[in-house]
Amino acid sequence: MIKVGITGGIGSGKTMVCKMFELLGISVYYSDEESKKLLDADGKVKEQIIKTFGNAILNEAGNIDRKKLSETVFGDKEKLTLLNGIVHPAVAKHFEEWVKMHSFDKYILKEAAILFESGANRLVDKVITVTAPVSLKIQRAMQRDNITEEQVVSRMKNQWSDEEKIKQSQFVIFNNEDQLLIPQVLKIHELLIANK
Ligand code: ATP
Repeated sequence: MIKVGITGGIGSGKTMVCKMFELLGISVYYSDEESKKLLDADGKVKEQIIKTFGNAILNEAGNIDRKKLSETVFGDKEKLTLLNGIVHPAVAKHFEEWVKMHSFDKYILKEAAILFESGANRLVDKVITVTAPVSLKIQRAMQRDNITEEQVVSRMKNQWSDEEKIKQSQFVIFNNEDQLLIPQVLKIHELLIANK
């Protein structure tokens, strides 16, 4: 079974591309979603986070308030490193368990916005980068999340550029307004099925 990472900056369209692979019967591990779930589901993670950031990041029900947590670490490199040091190893372990359940698949996808930045590229055999022009990515993210251009740009600053990601990828999907997505997805799917 081949483990394939799929990445791309904010608004690049990687989630949309993953949905296309899902329609072809491919299982996708959504790293961001899974890491959010682990904050409360994994007792050890929760405990470490409270120990590191204090009770102030809890909501009234005693669960981790993701908004408060992200406000605490946003723009603070040291705190972000601490949080990543807790969450990334837990997600990596959870992913390995998920992989075992899919060991009979031809290939699986691991979707992660910060695949390279988090070092999770080392957990996969191949990488697909979804890329789009910066202006289009900004426009799409603004519309989807109802946020300002400045907010999108500040999130982009924490991510590698597409060029850097592409250099280390085996496949690239161009999600611009000129190239159709479906034929690009089908081509990569056929290559992966054929183990190429
Ligand atoms: P993030 O990392 O921020 O979650 P993403 O790479 O997963 O972003 P998507 O959520 O897939 O990006 O796409 C961003 C927005 O742009 C979504 O609302 C999606 O529907 C839209 N979008 C993506 N690709 C296209 C396209 N080819 N045509 C029209 N809309 C698109």
